[in-house]
Amino acid sequence: MKCALVTGGSRGIGRAICYKMAEMGYYVLVNYKANIHEADKTLAQIKQNGGDGELLRFDVADKDDINQILGTWIETSTDKYIEILVNNAGIKDDVLMMWMKDEQWSNVIKTSLDGFFYVTRLVINSMLLKKYGRIINVVSLSGLKGLPGQVNYSAAKAGVIGATKALAQEVGRRGITVNAVAPGFIKTDMTEGLDEKELRSIIPVKRFGTPEEVAHAVAFLASTEAAYITGEILSVNGGLYS
Ligand code: NAP
Repeated sequence: MKCALVTGGSRGIGRAICYKMAEMGYYVLVNYKANIHEADKTLAQIKQNGGDGELLRFDVADKDDINQILGTWIETSTDKYIEILVNNAGIKDDVLMMWMKDEQWSNVIKTSLDGFFYVTRLVINSMLLKKYGRIINVVSLSGLKGLPGQVNYSAAKAGVIGATKALAQEVGRRGITVNAVAPGFIKTDMTEGLDEKELRSIIPVKRFGTPEEVAHAVAFLASTEAAYITGEILSVNGGLYS
């Protein structure tokens, strides 16, 4: 059975990606860290739409958790294989660098950059054996452009962008593509405190994006037809970055 693993699938962009993956016919592994209630809602909606999947709780910032929970799942689920990996889980913790605490730096880096490394390293083995796979990393405008107050977040996402380009070159010959989507301002819990009315003046399309619009870009890169696109960063930002 072909599976799509979506990290941070319980809410926001990850939830919309889970729905898209189910629509594409994948058995969806909905990862989350703590919010089982929201993760349950995602899975229930997948099933209501006629799809299938399961919850897989692990903390992407904790390599032991990843190795134990995801590693065990891979070892024991011999009838299932992860064909699509979407590294979506992420956090922000904004503050000017002069006031940034050690944990604010390391928590953000661990979640996005270490999470990418430890999850992908486990999952890629079976893709290499099958000679097919799609890896899509959810990065950010912040990682392309750098944003003040987000030195930790910009560094984490820029790190994943570099890793995307490098890994794409390592595995291209094995039928695996590695790409990233870079959202701008998207309406989710992460942007809840931001003033859309004020910020839309700087966005060419004059609004925040939706999780579904990001999921659409992920689905495109996850399709079999996107086989000749790899190492690419696709911006989904209403024209904000130019
Ligand atoms: P969100 O609404 O805050 O949701 C975050 C998701 O990530 C939740 O499912 C959460 O799980 C999960 N998560 C957080 N830390 C985790 C960990 N250590 N292990 C496993 N799961 C973890 O965020 P979002 O706006 O959808 O963002 C999704 C991705 O898009 C992130 O990588 C973010 O950086 C990126 N992004 C977002 C925007 C935006 O404007 N929203 C813009 C650019 C990039 P729980 O529910 O269990 O907490």
